[in-house]
Amino acid sequence: MSEEAAFIRAICEQPADDTLRLVFADWLDEHDQSDRAEFIRLQCWHAHNWPTHALLTGCRCRSCKTLRRVRTLLDRHGATWAGVVHGPCVFIHWYRGFIETIHIRACHFASHPRLVAMFGAHPITVVRLADVIYPLAVRLWCHHWVPLEDDQFSETLRAAILNLPLFESEADAVAASSRLCVDYARQVAGFAPLVK
Ligand SMILES: [Zn+2]
Repeated sequence: MSEEAAFIRAICEQPADDTLRLVFADWLDEHDQSDRAEFIRLQCWHAHNWPTHALLTGCRCRSCKTLRRVRTLLDRHGATWAGVVHGPCVFIHWYRGFIETIHIRACHFASHPRLVAMFGAHPITVVRLADVIYPLAVRLWCHHWVPLEDDQFSETLRAAILNLPLFESEADAVAASSRLCVDYARQVAGFAPLVK
């Protein structure tokens, strides 16, 4: 395993750890990837110093400057840095220098090789299945789910979803299904479950 691959593996294993990301940024600087290093540092800084106002046109504060620079770097390199995650997802969100959140169609969440590649490339901790209508109760949602059934879709994951209790809100159902999807994909990719 290359040094770079070992860093990324460690970061995916420990998504909550900022130190690993910042050490990786130093390594990137020493290996002619200064934009990537800067991006990781900027997003880590911003995550821990969130201001009281959103990005404002013309504002010169450090937060707004950071967000503008982040946007410039993503416009320039985002597709390359996203790598294997770029293709199958309908939405991605970058946080602390890596992809944290993905929205993806259920059929694209089915392939084990794809899950291994995606969860081995970015410390993904939030998954939303983009083509599933989330009703208030997850059992209703599962009825919606059935037509999405795909030969490749994991029996294990489907069974876990069917065993979920009823939820009082759509947000709770979305969060619970996200945790199941993340835990499932991390297991497939050979990582420990996230600490709750
Ligand atoms: Zn500002």
